[in-house]
Amino acid sequence: MPKWQNWSGLIEARPSSYRQVYSAQEAAGLAKRAAQTGQIIRAVGSGHSHQNLVGNDGTIVDLIGLAGVGEIDTAEKTAWIFAGSKIHTLGAALCTAGLALANQGDIDQQTLAGATATGTHGTGLKLRNLSSQVVGVELATSEGEVIECSADSSDPFLQNLWRASRLHLGAFGIVTKIKMQLVESYKLAETGWQATLDETLEQFEKLCLEHRHCEFFWFPQTDKAQVKCIDETQAEPSYPLAEEGSRVGWNYEVLPNHRPVKHSEMEYSVPFERAIDCMKDIQALLDKEFRQIKWPVEFRGQGADDVALSPACRRDVVTISVHQGAEEEDEPYFRACEEIFLSYDGKPHWGKVNYLDGEQMESLHEEWGSWWEVRNAIDPSKTFLNYYLRSLSD
Ligand SMILES: Cc1cc2nc3c(=O)[nH]c(=O)nc-3n(C[C@H](O)[C@H](O)[C@H](O)COP(=O)(O)OP(=O)(O)OC[C@H]3O[C@@H](n4cnc5c(N)ncnc54)[C@H](O)[C@@H]3O)c2cc1C
Repeated sequence: MPKWQNWSGLIEARPSSYRQVYSAQEAAGLAKRAAQTGQIIRAVGSGHSHQNLVGNDGTIVDLIGLAGVGEIDTAEKTAWIFAGSKIHTLGAALCTAGLALANQGDIDQQTLAGATATGTHGTGLKLRNLSSQVVGVELATSEGEVIECSADSSDPFLQNLWRASRLHLGAFGIVTKIKMQLVESYKLAETGWQATLDETLEQFEKLCLEHRHCEFFWFPQTDKAQVKCIDETQAEPSYPLAEEGSRVGWNYEVLPNHRPVKHSEMEYSVPFERAIDCMKDIQALLDKEFRQIKWPVEFRGQGADDVALSPACRRDVVTISVHQGAEEEDEPYFRACEEIFLSYDGKPHWGKVNYLDGEQMESLHEEWGSWWEVRNAIDPSKTFLNYYLRSLSD
């Protein structure tokens, strides 16, 4: 039996088969066979999620062969992108056509389908997560069909399918192609500095309003915060790129960072206006009960979106992330943080650690019921639900 593990090495699975696919039809054939034999099938991206979204004892499908930028519409600023494309492969290809992703996360190692599956986001109070930029989806279903849905579908079911599958959790089918809303290509200049945590919290709202991107890391047991703001620039890119905090270059050169140290992570989005108080509670928790934790806490502003199951659905948020080394115990720390996050109306990132059950998730997401209704209609045999997702739906 093949062994699969996620990026941190903390989640493992032994599927009965691990398959690479090279076409949507091949993906549909595999999905149909899984459904007929009562097996689970889950697609994998880069395995960068800290939650057991992929693991199962049936089939894991890798879309390594379905990568690259397809049809581009420069007038509409959209492109169909094959689902297995790693985000770091997209920047230069889109830039050649004068286009770019409006935003992206802290790293660019994820696949596009993997990133949209969990609502992956960057920073920016006027910017939204990647799922909100999905305007069309092609997917292979458990009935063996390849179907397309989009914001423009005239069939109401397909419109609902598009709406729900923007943040898809791999639960609707094997996503084979995604149509992304893009923007004109742009260059960015970064500024990084150190300040005290108190000063930084005091200025955070102003910084978020003044800059395209704003975030900071606070280092526990110190009063030190490392702040970073990024803005559009007309300046020419400067190569070789400088260190993080002072780069000038194209969007796809400045936004992603190198984060090689293996860790686990919990992230909750809390309403923007409550985030500073929440952060102070997390600081007090670390000061009083978890003085051994040295991993930084990340604090990022993010704009409201309209994506079902998104932690930023219809509210501006700050995402607060807590980390622990992959070799070290994380659960007592993460559980204590989760209690604080929940008391601030926090909602967990789908690709990171949380300990919530289906009932709690339902209470957090207004569109929970309609999301599951569409999912169950497209995959009544539950072929695409692994044990983690089944535990949420039961
Ligand atoms: C170092 C690091 C930094 C990170 N930084 C950020 C950040 O800045 N912002 C942020 O929001 N998140 C961040 N994350 C989390 C990460 O972006 C998400 O967990 C993302 O979902 C991972 O993408 P992936 O390609 O690795 O997908 P995987 O983790 O492999 O899979 C995620 C989900 O997508 C599904 N899936 C993948 N491909 C397909 C497909 N073709 N069809 C159907 N389903 C599919 C899987 O079944 C699974 O449900 C980070 C994670 C790490 C480890």
